[in-house]
Amino acid sequence: MEKAKGVNWDLTFLYDSLRDKKIKEDLEKAKQLADKFEEKYRGRIAAESLTPAVLETALKDIEKVYSLMIKTRSFSHLRFAENTGNMDAQSLLLNLQKEGAEIQNKLVFFNLELLDIPDETFKSLVDSKQLASYKYWLLNLRKWKPYKLSEKEEQIINIKDITGKNANVQLHDEYTASFKFPIEIEGEVKTPTESEVVALFSSDDRDLRKRAFDSFFDVFGENSLVLASIFNTLINDHFLECKRRGIEDVMETAYIRDNVSKELIDTLMGVVRDNYPLVQRYYKLKAGLLNLKKLEGYDRLAPVAKEVKIPFEDGKKMVVNAYTDFDGEFGTRIERFFDEKWIDAEIRPKKESGAFCAGILPELHPAVLANYNDRLEDVFTIAHELGHGVHDLYAGEVQSLLTYHPPLVLAETASIFGEMLLTDKLIKEANTDELKKKVLARQLEDVFNTVSRQVMYVLFEKEAHGISRKRKLSKEELSELWGKFEGELYGDSINPHPKQNYYWARVGHFFFENFYCYAYAFGQLFVLGLYRQYLNKGEDFIPLYKDLLRAGGQFPPAIVGKNIGIDLTKPDFWHGGFDYVKNLIDELEKLA
Ligand SMILES: [Zn+2]
Repeated sequence: MEKAKGVNWDLTFLYDSLRDKKIKEDLEKAKQLADKFEEKYRGRIAAESLTPAVLETALKDIEKVYSLMIKTRSFSHLRFAENTGNMDAQSLLLNLQKEGAEIQNKLVFFNLELLDIPDETFKSLVDSKQLASYKYWLLNLRKWKPYKLSEKEEQIINIKDITGKNANVQLHDEYTASFKFPIEIEGEVKTPTESEVVALFSSDDRDLRKRAFDSFFDVFGENSLVLASIFNTLINDHFLECKRRGIEDVMETAYIRDNVSKELIDTLMGVVRDNYPLVQRYYKLKAGLLNLKKLEGYDRLAPVAKEVKIPFEDGKKMVVNAYTDFDGEFGTRIERFFDEKWIDAEIRPKKESGAFCAGILPELHPAVLANYNDRLEDVFTIAHELGHGVHDLYAGEVQSLLTYHPPLVLAETASIFGEMLLTDKLIKEANTDELKKKVLARQLEDVFNTVSRQVMYVLFEKEAHGISRKRKLSKEELSELWGKFEGELYGDSINPHPKQNYYWARVGHFFFENFYCYAYAFGQLFVLGLYRQYLNKGEDFIPLYKDLLRAGGQFPPAIVGKNIGIDLTKPDFWHGGFDYVKNLIDELEKLA
């Protein structure tokens, strides 16, 4: 079976079709419920007399409104993703977004009133048994209390953001999406898009990699004046808003978003930085694997071994077996995705690229989209997305909507854990050194790209934010900063390309969300530590792990760690993840 032909999902568990009457009915119902909600609760939440029973009912009521909105929107989104040329899905999606924003506006008062509940009352509410499952959700929301502005000011910010911050983000997206990267491919000058040119960085043709790299950085260099200006505007906007709200540390908003403390993130980033030498050790080893004296910038993503072709049925077996070896119940859940058509893996024209798992509602099963292209990487993608899927299934058993999704830094727990199960199984069973090499290098580069490199991004971002308080950063200055931090990461293991310091200009996260990237490092390193627990404890680990998944987004990361016997505030825990990395490098060294 080529490219997962015929592996399609069945979405009738949501609605029969885009023309299903029930879609409109559900949307109407959501509107009515939102109106009723406002009538019933406006002015009643921010009150000394608020009881746990009333707040619990309010939370359940708002979950009902959100559920209907999510169900309708998910259906149109999934229909659109399977075929982006589907105009009916597109127009339904747009319509639902518009209607959704109106419903959302009616509910805004609720969160604002939650911030205004008198302290004493709030304390007794979160300590009540009745609200136990919402406790940390409420506590995290309350962190905004000291930073809240008046309703008028909040409204003005919202309005001014449309032509200010959001317009700049939009400009960045449209501007960079218009970039063409001229490059000679097979004797002809072509102009691939950004994602196509980035894909060429992993080509096994070294000269092609070099040409792709040259073209990529030429284009970003030529456009860096505009991008530097947008970047300056955005970080200044953030600084000024923080100042107005009385937020001293510009990273505070990210800590609240992720429900973590500054100390925790500082510890994590410190440990990652201490382990930079491991990154350098690996890339020196990689030079040897590629028969090079030293890597150039354009060799960093080069493949270390030949591609192997893996038909879908074989890939599926590999994934199911990796999970089943870990735990029978896990395996059964993974199989349901295939047997009950919860996954769409076939490659079709106009289908959305990439992969995702949509955890829709706690009472429904998730839906997974992937584009299976018969490569080893695609097998890992399936293992990754089904990891999310199993996470959603467990969380759905216990949680209600508001606490269903894990916080950002833990969102990748089950997906990365699943990739590690597959990695270990493939290493153990690999029948050729080529395959083993490929799996080891893949895992190592994954860790270095999501942990070490992402932390480097945040270090750069932090310094840029600091300087921008005093003056505008020129494109040269930004590039110099980038060179400093990237140079620290790779040391003398990679020769930097003369123009690669323009890389700051292409990191989308810097432009659409401040200090996002440490979340990747957190997630990956957390799982490496978790995996070590599994290797140490064996079967005893499994029930604890299932509880962790069932907790969904109920607890902040520090408590999730504590519940499974991990103290996230200790540097030792984070260092432990790198011990696993060290072992992989040792193994790879033996093969080299
Ligand atoms: Zn993921």
